[in-house]
Amino acid sequence: MASIPQKPVQNGTSSLIVGGGTIGISIALHLSDRGYKNITVLDRGEDIPSAYSAGNDVNKIVRADYEDAFYATHALNAIHTWRTSPIFSPYYHHTGYLVASSSSAPLKATSHISRLMTAISSHPNQPRGCLSTISRPTDVRRKVPQLTGLLTGWSGYFNSHAGYARAAPALKALYIELLARGVTFHLGSAGEAVAILPDEETAKSFPAPRPYIKTADKKLHCADVIILALGAHTARLLPAAGAQLTAKSWAVGHVRVSAGEAARLKGMPVVNCRDLGFFFEPVSVDESEQEWLIKLCAHGGGYTNRLGASGSTTSLPPSQVQENDAIPVEDEALIRRLLREALPEFAKRPLERRFMCWCTDTADSEYVIDFVPGFKGLVLAGGDSGHAFKMFPIFGGWVADVIEKGAQDEERWRWKVGSSDGKEEIGWRVGGVKDISEVRSRL
Ligand SMILES: Cc1cc2nc3c(=O)[nH]c(=O)nc-3n(C[C@H](O)[C@H](O)[C@H](O)COP(=O)(O)OP(=O)(O)OC[C@H]3O[C@@H](n4cnc5c(N)ncnc54)[C@H](O)[C@@H]3O)c2cc1C
Repeated sequence: MASIPQKPVQNGTSSLIVGGGTIGISIALHLSDRGYKNITVLDRGEDIPSAYSAGNDVNKIVRADYEDAFYATHALNAIHTWRTSPIFSPYYHHTGYLVASSSSAPLKATSHISRLMTAISSHPNQPRGCLSTISRPTDVRRKVPQLTGLLTGWSGYFNSHAGYARAAPALKALYIELLARGVTFHLGSAGEAVAILPDEETAKSFPAPRPYIKTADKKLHCADVIILALGAHTARLLPAAGAQLTAKSWAVGHVRVSAGEAARLKGMPVVNCRDLGFFFEPVSVDESEQEWLIKLCAHGGGYTNRLGASGSTTSLPPSQVQENDAIPVEDEALIRRLLREALPEFAKRPLERRFMCWCTDTADSEYVIDFVPGFKGLVLAGGDSGHAFKMFPIFGGWVADVIEKGAQDEERWRWKVGSSDGKEEIGWRVGGVKDISEVRSRL
């Protein structure tokens, strides 16, 4: 479908952001920074961060290690903002980032690491000397002395110019900041968008009707510009987006450690074994600093949920938050193998707070930030492809640019009619895509 020309929106007009997750509240921040006053955010969660947000997590990797210099440049800007912004810097930890493959890694993982090293060393904005080659397990131990396992065959690199963000606390902090700036939030059933309805009046005046957003409390919301930032849930509200956005999930779990163990592991870089999974230094998740968790995530091609999405082949997350603490058996096995290899003292501990984290893959891992064809003033901001949390401080600026220009100039971020069949061969993902219904989960 040809894109319908959109009139640039002038500063000061009303904006409605549907979805107050990572991208949604980043947009609210950037619109507010640019002087927009009438900003409303809808989210189906009872609080921000919402239980349905991929960003509602203990921590996320912040790295500029991309094969593609375009994303590396943006990620370097994001790291700068994480480190210097008064809003974001309290939640960023510049620990460094170790990337390795184990002795059983497929060629795809090892060749991806080689290409990353070339990309990092040739990027003009990567700090000099940030990259060290890891050829053997002793090199790993030199960079990460906290690791006590055999690290069988581990090789790769260490990048000192990277780290991680405390994800849920950063989202919460920005939410509080936005409330203080006068941004309006409707949460729960008052914020749950259930339909996009074309306005009858503007529908008569071709080419495009204005959209209304209907919420679960039966209210209708409209604004000069409406931005959909619904993450993995986008195609539930906008089925046309399902052709380019595929909801996929990965398994997350946590190991509880004592305050003493946390002190021993303090400052540990993020460790990412490309064929097993990744983990972070322990962080305290309670105010009294008694409860410390190591977050771990299993690698793989991701799980779709097509067969569970009734009457459709589009992959969507389950409509309600997972309450059974279940992850696929093979993912728990991967996480345990990762622990045996790297931190064997924790390999037999229970995995707590297990959940499937849902995000949105596109066929080429490119974001989608563009006007939605067929409507006037409706923008889609999504297709995060599992790598957008690091961009949290800056993502909203790209969306504000599109709103103000009235078009997306960056071809790679345009609305795509093309397909994402969920089986796409993404260069940095190791493992095939499965449907969640095909695997056994363990409680
Ligand atoms: C396992 C895993 C690990 C990851 N690790 C990293 C990492 O280390 N580094 C990194 O940069 N990125 C990482 N990501 C990716 C990152 O989490 C996402 O890119 C990012 O959170 C996507 O933001 P979003 O705003 O598109 O979606 P979300 O943050 O999920 O926000 C969507 C929002 O829409 C709301 N919503 C849904 N339906 C409705 C509705 N009908 N009405 C109103 N509101 C609704 C939800 O409540 C939610 O708040 C990871 C993702 C996964 C799955």
